[in-house]
Amino acid sequence: MLDAQATQTTVLATPYWQEDGLVPALAAPPPPAAVDVLIVGGGYTGLSAAAETSAAGASTLVLEAGAVGAGCSGRNGGQVAYSIKPAFAALQALHGEARAVAIAREGLAAMEYLRTLASTGDLDCEWRGHGCYYGAHTPRHFTALAREAENQPRGLEQRVSIVARSQQRNEIDSDFYHGGLVYHDDASVNPMRMLVSLLKRAQERGALVLDHCRALSLVRERDGFSVSTSRGVVKARKVLLATNGYSGPLSPWHRRRVIPIGSYQIATEPLGAERVRQLIPQLRNIVDSRRVVVYYRPSPDGERIIFGGRAALAEHDPLACLPRLKSMLTQVFPQLAGARVTHAWAGWVAYTFDTLPHLGHDDGLYYCMGYCGQGVPLAPYFGRRIGQQMMGLAEGRTALDGLNFPSRPYYSGVPWFLAPSVLAYRTLDSLGF
Ligand SMILES: Cc1cc2nc3c(=O)[nH]c(=O)nc-3n(C[C@H](O)[C@H](O)[C@H](O)COP(=O)(O)OP(=O)(O)OC[C@H]3O[C@@H](n4cnc5c(N)ncnc54)[C@H](O)[C@@H]3O)c2cc1C
Repeated sequence: MLDAQATQTTVLATPYWQEDGLVPALAAPPPPAAVDVLIVGGGYTGLSAAAETSAAGASTLVLEAGAVGAGCSGRNGGQVAYSIKPAFAALQALHGEARAVAIAREGLAAMEYLRTLASTGDLDCEWRGHGCYYGAHTPRHFTALAREAENQPRGLEQRVSIVARSQQRNEIDSDFYHGGLVYHDDASVNPMRMLVSLLKRAQERGALVLDHCRALSLVRERDGFSVSTSRGVVKARKVLLATNGYSGPLSPWHRRRVIPIGSYQIATEPLGAERVRQLIPQLRNIVDSRRVVVYYRPSPDGERIIFGGRAALAEHDPLACLPRLKSMLTQVFPQLAGARVTHAWAGWVAYTFDTLPHLGHDDGLYYCMGYCGQGVPLAPYFGRRIGQQMMGLAEGRTALDGLNFPSRPYYSGVPWFLAPSVLAYRTLDSLGF
């Protein structure tokens, strides 16, 4: 405890990713009186949509309430994986075989889209294609994971290897896991660098992006919307809500459909590239099979460990969560007990009641959100698609179009059920289920 307190005094409560001066200072002209497309939210979703609408010739304004990167897109773990959350069997049971396959293919396509942007130089994001080690928390989890790897749905196979516990030291310098799986096509990025690159793309195509400009209210009019902002009123023919876990009172209908959940991260001090390679020899992302997920990775320069997870039952200040996150890190790597933590931060991801992302529109009001903590590949991909849909382009169609976007009775956007749910999941994790 004393150690944690001593550490806290020197910790920055800002994302490690914002260290190297990446957050751009945007020009601050007054907002235009009228635009074709107004996008609320300047994260991956909003900026990817803006690139499409501008390229198609629509005057496009993006409003970001904070600085660039204030939302999740400037503060995530940068892990790129297949990110459709429901298991294939669950998708199949709910949506039928053909649609389940189509939805799962969107997840694969999202990864492929990002990989292509990165490899062609269209996205500056410090892409690291090292794959991911998915560690089994219990022997029972290992058996289930191995079975899954051997029985992947036909046509949706990912490149996966099963790693027995006896071979695990090739992946991680720890006996914490009971073996696991390697997902060879997973990757990692520098999330803030990726955001800035998407920002530049949108700007180069003609979008105007204003930071520190909040959309305060939205009123439907005969031929579009009147959007009142913290810097004046803008008329827009079409509006996109790209607010994900930061969806506030602007649209109560959408707010009732996303569950904001805090996700917490820490960065260690520079440990040295050699030491990091000792800890994670293949430099892969690591995720484990617990319900209350833990995920970590080397920093892009290979010098630090960036570690994340759900640190508390209810939401807390990231600095207050530091001791728990640090102890979760040292559970896996006791050898890091003396390592200092330099940054601790948090952001709001958006879960949905069916754990699928949702995009669609109602009479000119578009939305794209609900990536359930896995928007690094999904948000640029679906953001692009919704931008294309706004322009009436056929290539914007997705397998998620037209899905019911569920809410629940007595839910208005404040997840009162979160603490008991996390407690129940944590109990199941500790019992090894
Ligand atoms: C700690 C953490 C770790 C994560 N790690 C991973 C990971 O490793 N891999 C992965 O795939 N995903 C990860 N995620 C999730 C991922 O970052 C998000 O899914 C993704 O960034 C969502 O992008 P977005 O553009 O939809 O939303 P955001 O980037 O959150 O952007 C929404 C923006 O809307 C703005 N906004 C809201 N209301 C208004 C308003 N009224 N007016 C103007 N602006 C408004 C907000 O300020 C915010 O910037 C993580 C998230 C967190 C917080």
